[in-house]
Amino acid sequence: MQTPDISRAKSAELFEKAKQYFPGGVNSPVRAFKSVFGTPLFIERGDKAHLWDADGNEFIDFCCSWGPLILGHNNDQVREAVAAQLGKGLSFGAPTALENQLAELIIENNKYIEKIRFVSSGTEAVMSAIRLARGYTKRDKIIKFDGCYHGHSDSLLVKAGSGLVTFGETSSAGVPKAFADETIVIELNDKEALRAAFAEFKDQIAAVIIEGIPANNGLLMQSKEYMHFLRAITKEHGSMLIMDEVITGFRIGFEGASAYYEIQPDIITYGKIIGGGMPVGAYGASKELMACISPDGAVYQAGTLSGNPVAMAAGIAALTILAQDDFYTNLNAKTAAFVQDLRQYIAEKGYQVQLFHVASIFWFAFTEQEDIKKASEIDPASMESYKIMHRELLNRGVYFGPSGYEVGFVSAAHTDADLNTAKKHIFDALDIVFQS
Ligand code: PMP
Repeated sequence: MQTPDISRAKSAELFEKAKQYFPGGVNSPVRAFKSVFGTPLFIERGDKAHLWDADGNEFIDFCCSWGPLILGHNNDQVREAVAAQLGKGLSFGAPTALENQLAELIIENNKYIEKIRFVSSGTEAVMSAIRLARGYTKRDKIIKFDGCYHGHSDSLLVKAGSGLVTFGETSSAGVPKAFADETIVIELNDKEALRAAFAEFKDQIAAVIIEGIPANNGLLMQSKEYMHFLRAITKEHGSMLIMDEVITGFRIGFEGASAYYEIQPDIITYGKIIGGGMPVGAYGASKELMACISPDGAVYQAGTLSGNPVAMAAGIAALTILAQDDFYTNLNAKTAAFVQDLRQYIAEKGYQVQLFHVASIFWFAFTEQEDIKKASEIDPASMESYKIMHRELLNRGVYFGPSGYEVGFVSAAHTDADLNTAKKHIFDALDIVFQS
């Protein structure tokens, strides 16, 4: 039975006030709950797998700050590391040993990069990686895929034009057409489109950028064979392969999607988990490529707060836990069991919904289609079902991302009890979605 709506009175009041200060009342658009019912929830605190909003409602959290919180909220080691750093200073704009420590932890445990540069967001990491690819190859064009998100830098706010291989069209006002003209957008899982793009723009393509596993527009699992094709064709044409691991890095495993697909990209970008919940991004590559970055090389890139000591302390504490034996085995097994139970229920009831899953990421797709690899295969009309599920889940104390295109994350802090409770609520929410 449909559950009565939880009170959102305090959140609604805060949202009204926020609208006076911020465009749309938010500092990042998806938070405005435009794709789901009701006013956005204003969050007051989090602990382990739980969140509390301003009205005192409690939720089991599967958004996990959009991925960074693989250890859940308020992790003891991360909190203590941050607290210890707070007394020593918040920012120096000078090198610290903490940057070395985090870099060593990453590079010693990740065979896909030899040098790294820390920045402050995923957007910045990708923007810098693109510049590096262009600077190194001395070419301008990039290829991106429809359905992959890489942050909001100008070159990447571009959507597909019409035709198999076309220049992109800007997907945001304020992006000059000249930028979009340098970005070619093609469909995922389409070898022909990739071949055609390389045939047409042969020596002009600096890089192909792809999410490690596309997870910003549903979970669009690519085949290993396709990913190896991508690696081969970029190599053949002297173009860089940029693997954007802002979501998949340290999530699929410590070495991310590169290890999952056993592919050596030319440049890898990171964000989210790498900062343990603090604003950190990074890009890494071989020593040869990274030698192009300033002050060693001619590709300029800088940041006042880059390598921020508090953020580094959080990242070190988090990644130290992730580097332990069996961390990913346990988290992934726990998620697989959770997904399996949900799938079983869906199958028993004959509901028209698929649950896509990899490692500790999952995505509900309200469709009969068992395999979705391209953004164009997602039916926008199916999002209506997600909206209903989202409202039902919030009313039952389960917090999912406020859009049906967003994936869910399981953290190490989710206990069996949390997952069992969540399962029960998801069953009930699905019953409501499919009751008519
Ligand atoms: N790349 C990917 C794959 C992402 O998922 C995101 C954020 N969702 C970004 C880049 C941009 O990161 P940020 O929001 O930290 O700028």
